[in-house]
Amino acid sequence: MPLRIVISDCLLGAACRYDGGSKPHLGCLRLARRLRAQGGEQAVAPICPEMLGGLPCPRTPAEVRGDRVVRSDGVDVTRAYTDGAARSVDIAKASGARLAILKARSPSCGSGAIYDGTFSGRVVPGDGVAAQMLKREGFTVVDEELVKYCEPSFEHPVAIVLGSGLGAVAD
Ligand code: SF4
Repeated sequence: MPLRIVISDCLLGAACRYDGGSKPHLGCLRLARRLRAQGGEQAVAPICPEMLGGLPCPRTPAEVRGDRVVRSDGVDVTRAYTDGAARSVDIAKASGARLAILKARSPSCGSGAIYDGTFSGRVVPGDGVAAQMLKREGFTVVDEELVKYCEPSFEHPVAIVLGSGLGAVAD
């Protein structure tokens, strides 16, 4: 079966970020285009956990603080984040993908490193709510900083995801 991926929608150019913008990432865009060419639209499953949790766009920024997610104005939005993460897991499972490429450091999508909950820009080890839930469900989660598109690897999309050790997800 051709490789399938789950990917943060903002990395594909969707304007779904807290500030109303997007974060298009060239490597992710090219990878998605290549996978769709090989495996059809269903090869790529875009998710935005925060929108899936019913949050508006734009929205007040939030960060993970312990086991909660708190907005910069102090409002606890944990429920929306966990709802959105659960919906993201449902989409990921339905997609048949085993690899998720999610936006670095986001309180939903960050994997391995997230902002520390003080809105100071400081980064600490940890996962966003959706990334954590996807990992718990057995998905391999990486961030876009590991996606380096390179033409010579065109026939082997997973070789594009650096750090590798990810060969195992390339069916
Ligand atoms: Fe992007 Fe994830 Fe934030 Fe949505 S929740 S805007 S996909 S980083």
